[in-house]
Amino acid sequence: MTDVLTDTAVVTHYINGALVESTSGRTAPVYDPALGVETKQVALADEAEIAAAIAAAKAAFPAWRDTSLTRRQQVMFAFRELLAARRGELAEILTAEHGKVLSDAAGEITRGLEVVEFVCGFPHLIKGDYSENVSTGIDVYSTRGPLGVVGMISPFNFPAMVPLWFFPVAIAAGNTVVLKPSEKDPSAANWLAALFTEAGLPDGVLNVLHGDKVAVDGLLNSPDVKAISFVGSTPIARYVYETATRNGKRVQALGGAKNHMLVLPDADLDLVADAAVNAGFGSAGERCMAISVVVAVEPVADELIAKIQSRVAGLVVGDGRRACDMGPLVTEVHRDKVASYIDIAVADGSSVVIDGRDVEVDGAPDGFWLGPTLIDKVSTSSKVYTDEIFGPVLSIVRVASYEEGVDLINASPYGNGTAIFTNDGGAARRFQNEVEVGMIGINVPIPVPVSYYSFGGFKDSIFGDSKAYGIDGFQFYTRQKAITSRWLDPSHGGINLGFPQN
Ligand code: NAD
Repeated sequence: MTDVLTDTAVVTHYINGALVESTSGRTAPVYDPALGVETKQVALADEAEIAAAIAAAKAAFPAWRDTSLTRRQQVMFAFRELLAARRGELAEILTAEHGKVLSDAAGEITRGLEVVEFVCGFPHLIKGDYSENVSTGIDVYSTRGPLGVVGMISPFNFPAMVPLWFFPVAIAAGNTVVLKPSEKDPSAANWLAALFTEAGLPDGVLNVLHGDKVAVDGLLNSPDVKAISFVGSTPIARYVYETATRNGKRVQALGGAKNHMLVLPDADLDLVADAAVNAGFGSAGERCMAISVVVAVEPVADELIAKIQSRVAGLVVGDGRRACDMGPLVTEVHRDKVASYIDIAVADGSSVVIDGRDVEVDGAPDGFWLGPTLIDKVSTSSKVYTDEIFGPVLSIVRVASYEEGVDLINASPYGNGTAIFTNDGGAARRFQNEVEVGMIGINVPIPVPVSYYSFGGFKDSIFGDSKAYGIDGFQFYTRQKAITSRWLDPSHGGINLGFPQN
């Protein structure tokens, strides 16, 4: 069934447990980035389609809210089993539309699956409290109930993992969902929704609405949508946060990043070079937790650059369906934009150590290729340093001391991830305390928290108070009721206009 959903000429909405043909008359192209050809179109929703998706979720809400925790748990376990068994199909969809190599696509699914596994134990996380006899004969207790319809808007770079950060948590907690995936790689969302239906999820609980700004604005402005989870670039995250909060919604909007790796002189430079290459060029640098700046505390820079160079020389860039290390970028426009930073680097006086435009690829000539690029002596005033490039471009900034490195990181408007490489435990501990970043690696380059710790950064990398998944996720998708109760006892009674007494 899921093949039928994704092998279509036009990827269309999944509403009420079925595909719904779009009548909006608007579509966008979907490419196979390794071939450089358009393979399908995706529907872009109009007002009527947005309303239909929200109405389906709204209609499904009361029955799903009242479905027993045991039944919801059974559906979640069934979804987990299906996803684990059929992840290979999903990985192929990801590679065909995003371009990342198959092993990396499988890794993305594994991280999403971990959230589903965490969610399987959800009843423990939405338990209330109970206090007996707060006043004589009076008990107080709390419940955590769902919000209603939740809107989710996801980016192109993790078409499976980012939706899996959110919808299993929201659905387990009793909400219903309208998911608006990226229009660049839309098929994974339909595949996941159909799989959940197969697992026993009632129709209308998870709907997929395809589209662009029109669909996003429809979710942000609908009074029937009670909360928004967003992941994408910082300007759109800020817009989503401001618009949705103005409309009275609960919002978590995760934005962009520029992640630094601080290398102290005592670090194991072979470990650092491996980590820099993996974290800088994995998924072609299209990860919000990618390392894009290596801050080298001198005198290590020259030796480290030589080690990175020798590793990059062994990387194979090419079609993700072959045995390659790194795939293409997501679109031609994005590839050209990322490549333009190499010219900026030259103009700004940096030294281009490896130019990714010269890469030889194991793939079709028209693929959206750009090889690993290493730029040394990047000035902190250059756009190469200040912009989120979101591609395989790794900058080296040389500093004289630990303090200079930390000051640099803390001056960044972003605060998503960072890493320190050192063998000095005291320095690592000091870094953990002083650095203003939400996710920190100590000799770990991409410190994405496991599913039972929540994911999210600081500053312009997040708008709102709640991070994704983990305990934060359940708190975000539930609200507390506090109930004060008295069951009449024949010994009590009479009139008392004051507060209850002990
Ligand atoms: P994007 O901001 O262009 O798009 C994200 C979503 O917003 C998409 O669904 C898109 O359709 C929608 N959108 C785009 N323009 C819009 C507009 N003007 N109004 C309303 N909605 C709009 O991001 P992207 O290019 O898909 O993804 C890459 C970005 O996401 C990077 O900045 C990356 O750092 C960030 N990201 C952050 C995290 C995180 O956890 N902080 C995780 C993954 C990606």
